[in-house]
Amino acid sequence: MNLPDTLSALLGPDAVLQGPGATVAYTEDWRGRFREEAACVVLPRTAAQVADVVRLCSAQRVPVLPQGGNTSLSGGSVPSATGQRPVIIGLSRMRKILNVDTANNSMEVEAGCVLQTVQEAAIAANRLYPVSLGAEGSSQIGGTIATNAGGTSVLRYGNTRDNVLGLEVVLPDGTLWDGRYALRKNNTGYDLKHLFIGAEGTLGIITSAVLKLHPLPTAYAVAWLGVDSPETVLNILALFQESCSAQMSAYEMINAQQLDNVLQHMPGRRNPLTGKHPWHVLIELSDTGSAEALDTRLQQVLEQAMAREWVRDAVIAANHAQRATLWELRHSVSEANKKEGVGLTTDCAVPVSKVAEFIARATAAVHKIVPDMPVAVVAHMGDGNAHFIPFFSFDQWDAVADKTAMAHHVRHVVNEVSHELGGTFSAEHGIGQTLIGEMAHYKPAAELQLMHAVKRAIDPHGLFNPGRVLPPE
Ligand SMILES: Cc1cc2nc3c(=O)[nH]c(=O)nc-3n(C[C@H](O)[C@H](O)[C@H](O)COP(=O)(O)OP(=O)(O)OC[C@H]3O[C@@H](n4cnc5c(N)ncnc54)[C@H](O)[C@@H]3O)c2cc1C
Repeated sequence: MNLPDTLSALLGPDAVLQGPGATVAYTEDWRGRFREEAACVVLPRTAAQVADVVRLCSAQRVPVLPQGGNTSLSGGSVPSATGQRPVIIGLSRMRKILNVDTANNSMEVEAGCVLQTVQEAAIAANRLYPVSLGAEGSSQIGGTIATNAGGTSVLRYGNTRDNVLGLEVVLPDGTLWDGRYALRKNNTGYDLKHLFIGAEGTLGIITSAVLKLHPLPTAYAVAWLGVDSPETVLNILALFQESCSAQMSAYEMINAQQLDNVLQHMPGRRNPLTGKHPWHVLIELSDTGSAEALDTRLQQVLEQAMAREWVRDAVIAANHAQRATLWELRHSVSEANKKEGVGLTTDCAVPVSKVAEFIARATAAVHKIVPDMPVAVVAHMGDGNAHFIPFFSFDQWDAVADKTAMAHHVRHVVNEVSHELGGTFSAEHGIGQTLIGEMAHYKPAAELQLMHAVKRAIDPHGLFNPGRVLPPE
């Protein structure tokens, strides 16, 4: 029997998909930029089944590619053009909330739970699971852990790594490691979960996780600001941090090009301000106290910012619906950008104090390649993480002879500015396929050697997500 037939015999025929028609949802990425065939797609229902599949693949030396919601923005969730076709192990059927422990402020969930489902289950227990991002309706807990996803609430709650207490993982030899500790203190040697968080499926397949929960805010205050420059956006950030740092739960910035993309391509979205402004800020405060007190706090700090002429115009959401409308604008940027043209998304983070300089220098650098090239900027400003996105129109892009080389060149000049400012080229989206070259270029040799040593120790045959994260030795 060939491998797909053996897997069908093991898991049942409805758990194995074969052929381009049946597998396209798993073999093409969210943006439609990568599409390569897999040996087959397997949809296990239990961790034991995942382990069985891995053991079979390992015995036949077939690579495996774990897949969550397939929302990766770095081509990480779909097969590569080179190398042996992998078996894609999709976690979508493993979507049980296993337990919510309110006294311990933790919950245990299977890896295929969609992020939004986890957020809702936490709310139902009067708790908050704080990781939040535009793809939360599709991305899965396993995928967010494997990429150490960031999103819009890192400023207050940290990234995914900070919100994971324990993991269950299938290792490349089929061993099921049960590290589902629901503990805040556990100094018993190396904290192995951290190896798998952010490893993008190169070391193991996460099958379930124990997550950290937080008090559920009872009050939110959200404002949208029109501002002149990123420097001013930083001044306002500092003012809020001096006044109400503990209540700040998001501080997001987008430029006029990014807002235009949303208004043009997303039906029903409206500019919250009357005039045009070069930069926009979405600020959210949240707390367990009273809504009135939080609104007053927001207004007071905004008045101080306006008195210093840092804010051109502002609107404060009056109710839940208005808050949701402002957040919709922010959360629809990636969808809008897909329709605008070919955006070469970058994922740099620099020290917060240097974001304005980063944007100015990166703009100059890409304009040396294509003068007047439109650039959308969407930044998790409170974390220093700016997605700087130079755009080609679809026609312009059709005319580019070597698209891979052009994409690399444009991204590289941006990454170079980040590097010069002490920043990184990969803040939250992961390395995937698109940034392997940058890993080879920027990571110190000693770090790469250590990473390869870890990879060899855990996955000696190099079968888990080959060609991802680590450049060839
Ligand atoms: C509209 C939109 C907005 C986004 N906004 C943000 C944002 O603000 N912040 C952010 O950080 N990211 C963002 N992303 C990127 C993406 O959503 C995240 O990287 C997310 O964490 C991926 O989750 P997923 O379940 O879709 O994983 P996938 O895309 O399926 O996989 C991503 C990687 O994780 C591996 N993987 C998946 N599941 C497992 C598992 N169970 N065990 C081991 N490895 C696994 C895959 O092999 C792959 O390497 C956005 C994406 C979109 C489309």
